[in-house]
Amino acid sequence: MLCILEFAHQHAEAGSKTVVFAHVNVVPMDGDRILTDQDVTVVDDRISSIEPAASPIVPKDAQVIEATGRFLMPGLGEMHAHLPEPSDPQEYMRATLALYVANGVTTVRCMRGFPNHLATKRDVISGKLLGPFLFLAGPGLGGDSVKSPEDGVKQVLQQKSEGWDMIKIFPGLKRAEYDAIMTTARRIGMRTGGHVPTEVGLEHALQTGQETIEHLDGYWEALHFEKPVPEAGLREMAVKTREAGVWNTPTMTIVRFTLCMEPIQSALAKKEMEYLPKFQVDRWVKLSEEVVCKGHSDPNVSRIVQQNRERFLKELNDAGAEILFGTDSPNLFEVPGFSVYEELIAMRHAGLSPYDVLLSATRKVGQYLHKNVGTVTVGAQADLILLDGNPVEDVANVRKQSGVMLRGRWFPLSELQRMLKAIHDLPGNYQASYHQKAEAGS
Ligand SMILES: [Zn+2]
Repeated sequence: MLCILEFAHQHAEAGSKTVVFAHVNVVPMDGDRILTDQDVTVVDDRISSIEPAASPIVPKDAQVIEATGRFLMPGLGEMHAHLPEPSDPQEYMRATLALYVANGVTTVRCMRGFPNHLATKRDVISGKLLGPFLFLAGPGLGGDSVKSPEDGVKQVLQQKSEGWDMIKIFPGLKRAEYDAIMTTARRIGMRTGGHVPTEVGLEHALQTGQETIEHLDGYWEALHFEKPVPEAGLREMAVKTREAGVWNTPTMTIVRFTLCMEPIQSALAKKEMEYLPKFQVDRWVKLSEEVVCKGHSDPNVSRIVQQNRERFLKELNDAGAEILFGTDSPNLFEVPGFSVYEELIAMRHAGLSPYDVLLSATRKVGQYLHKNVGTVTVGAQADLILLDGNPVEDVANVRKQSGVMLRGRWFPLSELQRMLKAIHDLPGNYQASYHQKAEAGS
């Protein structure tokens, strides 16, 4: 018996892996501070020590990453995202997950469940698929899918037994159905989030304790975002939101396209579109032209709505209400992974400090998930981004990545670039030149 245990112990030792980031500036995100010139040691998938880089002695067999002058921040959470559906090619799923990783996104909350997502999560955990940690909302519960309060209860129980992490609230639910769903979800420890159905209304959603509200949904109707909203009204609602303990995922950038404020040509010309299959880009163009922006005629109203959203996000932050970072990719021209850079800047534009913006994508992600991710501190999961610039000085520096660590596995820039090139060169991908040709021909 002793012999077997001994062997198991040795085996574990042989399998453990140590990586040291040498002479790195740490962005711990446990406070608005930088720890300069540190050695950060990662053993397996955990940060095991953070020490001033004084001693040249590193553990034998450790991989040393020379990081003088660079900044080590936590990996990002993309907390309102989507994943390809069962009818999409599996290659698109693989590429989507890799695009997240290649841009430093180490956690993804998928906001609408399809049957293939549960297997995808299992494959990521087992290592069969390379991808961020997945937190999965089940199929949306809304007016189209829920027939009665009893049916709502049944579906919550079923989603729990199937292994989904949270209930996604969709528009169209009646108040009795909503209440039954929320009560059951709370009783069995199922998380909740999503839209605010019209019949439920924002005040009731806040009172009921829906855990997250997406896109500032419900606030538009409650505060009348289509007209300039007096500051006192915004502040009062922000305080109510904090008191209710409800989180918001504001998804600031996608609104340019959902409110038809930006011509789709500018999105189509973006280099990162070429990482997507052409069918995905075509879907967006069709959705935008034939549904979302069809007959949309008042850009002034859109501008006022967006200004109110920005002002309200600032009020939420000032009031101490919880904010989660998310872009809604891959929805309307938001490319998985790449969309985070514009969202960081959009939140800055609303007046949040760089530190507060980063907080929503790092430490707050861990707090929301009840998981030790989102900080660079001893004991935290080793989801990390190595940057060439200080992100707390300028969130645009989050794009200057020289490597990503995913659950202790190190991807240097060369490997990230190889991954990206492989995705870029997939047959059937969109090419920006299609668009230019179409323009020239018209
Ligand atoms: Zn969404």
